[in-house]
Amino acid sequence: MAYTIKKWDLGQLFPSFDSPELQGAFDNVEEQVASFEGVRGKLNPDMDAETFLDVVRASEATSRIVNRIYAFAGLAFAEDTQNQNAQTLIARVQQFAAEMQNRTMFFTLWWKEVDDKNAERLMSGSGDYRYYLEEVRHFKPHTLTEAEEKIVNIKDVTGMGALITLYDAITNRYVFKLEVDGEVKELTRAQLQPYIQGPDPDLRARAYQELYRVFGGDGPILGQMYQARARDWHNENINLRKFGSAISVRNLQNDVPDEAVDALLETTKKNAKTFQRYFKMKAKFIGVEKLRRYDIYAPVAKSDKPFDFDAAANMVIDSFNAFDPQIGELARRVFDQDRLDSEVRKGKQGGAFCASINPEDTPYVLMNYTGRARDVATLAHELGHAIHAMLASHHSAFTFHSSLPLAETASTFGEMMLTEKLLATETDEAVRRDILFKQMDDAFATILRQIYFALFEREAHALVMKNASVDEISAAYMENLKEQFGDSLELSDEFKWEWVSIPHIYHTPFYVYAYAFGQLLVFSLYQQYKAEGESFKPKYLKILSAGGSEAPAKILADAGVDIRSTKFWQGGFDVLSKMVDQLEKL
Ligand SMILES: [Zn+2]
Repeated sequence: MAYTIKKWDLGQLFPSFDSPELQGAFDNVEEQVASFEGVRGKLNPDMDAETFLDVVRASEATSRIVNRIYAFAGLAFAEDTQNQNAQTLIARVQQFAAEMQNRTMFFTLWWKEVDDKNAERLMSGSGDYRYYLEEVRHFKPHTLTEAEEKIVNIKDVTGMGALITLYDAITNRYVFKLEVDGEVKELTRAQLQPYIQGPDPDLRARAYQELYRVFGGDGPILGQMYQARARDWHNENINLRKFGSAISVRNLQNDVPDEAVDALLETTKKNAKTFQRYFKMKAKFIGVEKLRRYDIYAPVAKSDKPFDFDAAANMVIDSFNAFDPQIGELARRVFDQDRLDSEVRKGKQGGAFCASINPEDTPYVLMNYTGRARDVATLAHELGHAIHAMLASHHSAFTFHSSLPLAETASTFGEMMLTEKLLATETDEAVRRDILFKQMDDAFATILRQIYFALFEREAHALVMKNASVDEISAAYMENLKEQFGDSLELSDEFKWEWVSIPHIYHTPFYVYAYAFGQLLVFSLYQQYKAEGESFKPKYLKILSAGGSEAPAKILADAGVDIRSTKFWQGGFDVLSKMVDQLEKL
């Protein structure tokens, strides 16, 4: 079968915005919630385990329907951010979910208050729900009264939720103008990307300048949105919920100890010089005295050979098959069931993501395929996510989804498998060199760059609370870049607006360190794979199929990894340092 670029089929979730099925799902949730409200009087720390389990099951059943509606609304918006039906449905489902959550939150509030002894008794027979139930209790010290929690929920719908949707709507409709071969092209951000990473130095510079001209034009407004995001985060999480710091909110949600994240951030800072050494060396290969910031992703060989989509899909699936046919089979399912939106369209969300809805659903994947080698890597990456979810499909809707720190494991590993495959089949030395350099470029983009975003977020949140202006935050961002790059490259002024173009820091504060976590972890796992061969595979598949059914530290400890130790993280950087040594010898 030939794979073709197309839109995904959301009709498998619901036939349309005005379908009776969609309305039926809303009605169904209402009915289930009304019946759930009836258990309120029956909750008691002494209750028998089976009755308790029925309550948890009922709550999971409702979550599944809500997940499905949410997915339909969110994916419809992503495929066309200017679609008013999708915008309206998102607003409707956000409000609806908040109302339903408010009517059912008495259960989790009660659960957090149950004494340890009874909690242990009730959890001991709860099977796959256990970790979910434990996690809920972790938040006990940061929980407000029922009335306060309800107000937060309701105000978030029209507050932060709406603000973030607005950020997406504004930034996804930007048009970038770039003169290519004497003709001025109007491009989306996704279409601009190939020029940013392309072989022509002048085009690279102009593409970057155009990117930040447009974002910078709205910089004061986008910056203001960020200030509101950071203040809201602080007001709610630190003032009301008494978290120790802005980042520890995410750490607890990730169920990763603060010390482990600190170890990751500190070790990365210490190793910035490895990447700086890489950039200085890359300058020689490109034939310049010193790299400009524009040149970071420049190809070292002018081998910008395009990959047609069918070839790309086959390459990815073959590389997965080579590791384990089961993995290749799962990847193929995403294509076969029309769950992949690979087309580039105006108004479509840029970048790429994978949405796993419920354990039984094949995940949906969005990307913007333009035929570059990098797009092939993105395809491998996002399909890796989908595989991860499908391998964990035997868990509950509460526990199949891996927590953030492990979320990038299968995706990054998928990219490594693809690279391996490409190196094994490529005979042209120039192309091979390009692949090796790309691997380092990607390591930079997922490790150093993301950790410096996290360090920036930490600083920016503090600055906002000290009433810093948008310009002052931009200045702090420039300082962050200077530390990151040292004297390894020339940094021009427009990069001060880069931060307002990073959706993650708006959507999910402190999400970004998960990328570095995943990449370094995968370097370490891949080393193990090379050393152990076949016997490594079951260990790896076990990590993936655990999904989010246990704490990340526990899942990894079973595979012999200690995330609190700086030694473990340093091990990942040692692999990178060796890669730079190898490249230097070329
Ligand atoms: Zn990813």
